[in-house]
Amino acid sequence: MQVSDSRPKQSQGKLLTDESLMQSLKDAIAKKLMPNVAKIDQQGMYPEEFLRNIGELGAYGQIVSVEHGGTGRGVLPALKAIEIVSETCLSTGFMAWCHNACSWYLQNTDNSFLREQILPQVASGKLLAGTGLSNPMKHFAGIEKIKIMATPCDGGYILNGTLPWVSNIGDQHLFGVSAQIEGTDNYLMAIAQGGMQGLELKQDVHFIALEGTNTFRCLFRNVFISNDWILAAPCDRYVEYIKPGFILMQVGMGLGLTQNCIDLMRRVDNTKQHVNQYLDDRPDELEEELENLRLKSYRLAEAIGHGRQLVGKEVLREVIQSRATASELSLRASQSLMLHAGAIAYVHGSVYDRRLRESYFVAMVTPALKHLRKVLASMS
Ligand SMILES: Cc1cc2nc3c(=O)[nH]c(=O)nc-3n(C[C@H](O)[C@H](O)[C@H](O)COP(=O)(O)OP(=O)(O)OC[C@H]3O[C@@H](n4cnc5c(N)ncnc54)[C@H](O)[C@@H]3O)c2cc1C
Repeated sequence: MQVSDSRPKQSQGKLLTDESLMQSLKDAIAKKLMPNVAKIDQQGMYPEEFLRNIGELGAYGQIVSVEHGGTGRGVLPALKAIEIVSETCLSTGFMAWCHNACSWYLQNTDNSFLREQILPQVASGKLLAGTGLSNPMKHFAGIEKIKIMATPCDGGYILNGTLPWVSNIGDQHLFGVSAQIEGTDNYLMAIAQGGMQGLELKQDVHFIALEGTNTFRCLFRNVFISNDWILAAPCDRYVEYIKPGFILMQVGMGLGLTQNCIDLMRRVDNTKQHVNQYLDDRPDELEEELENLRLKSYRLAEAIGHGRQLVGKEVLREVIQSRATASELSLRASQSLMLHAGAIAYVHGSVYDRRLRESYFVAMVTPALKHLRKVLASMS
């Protein structure tokens, strides 16, 4: 794997407080993301420079311990960072989540090579990263078969199979994968890299939204992963460590997108309030629900903290419920925004049209709303 061993001194975001992190992210969003949002959405522009920039500001280092280049503040500021980016652009907010998910995997592993050599580079955004855990999560929930098989060999494993879609990746990017260990009922989790021998990244479809997310089909043909790059094998207990933070951080996407829909509805109301008042899901109603979800998810983020621990069943249930509520609110808010804005929203390329298309992604990216409801039903 082409990864340099040099450890960065410290994440520049390390000394920032929560508020100054948010302020510096707001400034970066206004200067470097807002001008490119339409290109990201319509032309599939990948905002690599911005993604690296917010890494330097500390957007990926919050869930990483201080000795590995982060701030050690935990899931809460990471969730807030994803929220604030998603308020402007869900594609980029999703990629901020993808990257944070991979940081979270590295933060929770017992593998000292990954924690000491690789994590600091991911925490600072020097190495960009994604996650290919949709298939295993659906597999563990009884929704689909596992797609990657790992055959043990001298010094590691040989991986074969295909992951339909993995975002925020490229030749140098890292991403988390999971595979069944051949001949056993056990699974492993590992870190793969785009340029590995035997791994082909294919981009053969266009998406109705999220087009700028560098999303590829990943074909593993006899890809060797050495033991150095194994996060956990078997990974049952490890998956329980990462699951709550993985799911909860996605709530940030729904919080940010819903907030922007409400703000845009209020803007439209400046001239249309006299008639928009007869619509359902008015900004004030949605704002109350959004604030409840925000407070609940912030409280849960504090309960999850820094990882490397099991959370109680009730906390996990609340995390899953919050993630489902984030999907439902995003759908309702973007639909109501369309109706508030009226015909102007129907103009191709309008912000209203983009927010509507983006909102469906909150409800269908794994764990999708149907997946979350299945798990909630099995827990009650
Ligand atoms: C833009 C985008 C980015 C994504 N990024 C990631 C990521 O970073 N990591 C990750 O693990 N997952 C990613 N996914 C997958 C996502 O998380 C969901 O698993 C996926 O959208 C399907 O969810 P579902 O539960 O609705 O699946 P289902 O209800 O099972 O529906 C999936 C359907 O799509 C079909 N299908 C699957 N793959 C393909 C394909 N390549 N071409 C044509 N049809 C196909 C299946 O046969 C099935 O009918 C991404 C998906 C999209 C659309």
